[in-house]
Amino acid sequence: MGPTAGAFYLAGGGAALAVVLGSPFPVAATRLELGALAVTALLAGVLLLLRGYVLPRWAFHVVAGTGTLLITLAVPKCPTLATALAISAVYLFVAVDVVFFFTWRESAAHLSVLTAAGAWVLHDRPGMTPGVAVSLVVLLVVIAGVVGLLVHEAADAARDGLTGLANRRGFDDALDAALAVAARTGAPLSAALLDVDHFKSVNDHHGHAAGDELLRAVGEEYRHALPPGAVLARYGGDEFAVLLPGLPGPRALELVDRLRAAGTCAALSCGVAELSPGESGAELMRRADSALYAAKAAGRGRARLLDDTSAVLARDLADALAAGDVRAWFQPIVDPADGEVVGVEALARWTHPVRGPVPPLEFVHVAESTGLVHELGPAVLADACRGALEVRRAWGCELLLTVNVSGRELTNPDYPQRVLEVLADTGFPASSLVLEVTESVVDASGQAALDALRELRSHGIGVAIDDFGTGYSAFSRLDTLPADYLKLDAGFTAGITTSPRRAGMLEALLSLSATLGLRVVAEGVETAEQARLLTEMGCPLAQGWLFSRPVPPRQLAEQGRTGGVGPQRAGAAGARPRQGVTRV
Ligand code: C2E
Ligand code: CA
Ligand code: CA
Repeated sequence: MGPTAGAFYLAGGGAALAVVLGSPFPVAATRLELGALAVTALLAGVLLLLRGYVLPRWAFHVVAGTGTLLITLAVPKCPTLATALAISAVYLFVAVDVVFFFTWRESAAHLSVLTAAGAWVLHDRPGMTPGVAVSLVVLLVVIAGVVGLLVHEAADAARDGLTGLANRRGFDDALDAALAVAARTGAPLSAALLDVDHFKSVNDHHGHAAGDELLRAVGEEYRHALPPGAVLARYGGDEFAVLLPGLPGPRALELVDRLRAAGTCAALSCGVAELSPGESGAELMRRADSALYAAKAAGRGRARLLDDTSAVLARDLADALAAGDVRAWFQPIVDPADGEVVGVEALARWTHPVRGPVPPLEFVHVAESTGLVHELGPAVLADACRGALEVRRAWGCELLLTVNVSGRELTNPDYPQRVLEVLADTGFPASSLVLEVTESVVDASGQAALDALRELRSHGIGVAIDDFGTGYSAFSRLDTLPADYLKLDAGFTAGITTSPRRAGMLEALLSLSATLGLRVVAEGVETAEQARLLTEMGCPLAQGWLFSRPVPPRQLAEQGRTGGVGPQRAGAAGARPRQGVTRV
């Protein structure tokens, strides 16, 4: 409001000054009086331009009222009808200003005073009739009304009706403007996406009105908490976006995380990204979205920043993918009773030209947070299919192939189609492919992930719930997830020989899984003792260093189905009597 009102005051003061300097005045004192009014308006304009932003909203009613008063005092001082009309035209600035910034009711009050004052100072001028004076002022008010209507309409298109915040369009406009400033000044710019955790369940359990109320409350809370200059918008659904000009990534993260932790309305997950040189607004928001995804996948109720190191690694990973340097290695999945290899899990392997082997968790995370996972996933899948066919040919038997899928891939609407294309290209049978997903990933990715899994299953592809038994797992989800296999996390397996309770849980889980039609794979089997216990409990499948480390497909093809993967050891272990474990 400050700069606009300031500009209007300057324009009005300038018009009055032009009259003072350019018109003959029969009475010199009147020229001085009008000059004083013009200078007052000009000074007020400068002050408003420089310091107007500190004024509270109500003060702008005083600013507008004072504008009306100054014009009303100035018009009678004008020497001719023409100059009086010129100065009364300045009423238009006040009228536009009030309809622009105030509610319709507030504007009506200002405009009534303005109409009365304008008609009163003009009606008795020589050459003017009261009717013409009133018509003139009413015309000014009507022009202001039309301008106000158009302005409000334009503003509504960029504003969210529910929260009163900017909507996505408004945010994008602000982002464009901020990008231009950042490019000109080199100042940092960060953006954040905030997502209300479990918003769907608020809507489902308490109704949409409660959901709306929650969004309004969150918007209101953050609007007041953000620093001046920040732009808060409702970005869509239960997602808010914040633009933080002048803040580098780490400080933006700190701020957003502090606000998140202090928030009282709802738990939020937040993703933050800082603008990189030459980056577009869309790319910046895509990275903020990736960071948000990472925050959700890490368990929600936290904030994440996409940092520079990830960006560098992502570039190298993109090169490696283009060069075909990311390969699928195989870790055998065996029957723990005899160690016979039933299938393999494909595990991505990448050796960085400078760093050497990069842990898959690290580069998969980078791929997820930069969108590269949409290339990594199909590349590993295709390599794994080719490798599995090679092993099948060498062994002359069928072989199950399990491949890890990231949640990011699942939310890509094209994902099922891409998997089917890879199968068609490589000739690997859908019925021998199993995709491994974690519960947390499915949860973070929502309905889209479930739909993708169901579609894939309709083509005969199997689904495994990976890492079951880690912090996240919930028994109640077992019957809702579309799955065929349950992979017990290595941490869970590790406990079965040392904790009788854990062994008891495994036994219960095996029977529950059998009821649900889920085949259990115990991961991380490192000792013969574990293999023996699993065999005794009837665990159908196992995987771990006891049987084999992950190896290149060719090596597996050459060493044979039972050679070198430890089946003899496991078989022997299975035959030994059980020791040291009491079932609960
Ligand atoms: P994961 O899916 O749980 O894979 C099993 C991990 O346990 C592998 O680690 C494997 O090498 C390791 N492992 C196997 N046997 C044993 C054992 O007896 N003891 C212990 N302590 N560990 C064992 P790796 O290869 O480092 O992979 C780590 C994670 O990276 C995987 O965990 C998976 O979440 C992810 N990952 C690997 N490849 C891919 C991929 O192609 N796509 C996606 N999205 N994720 C992948
Ligand atoms: Ca896995
Ligand atoms: Ca696992």
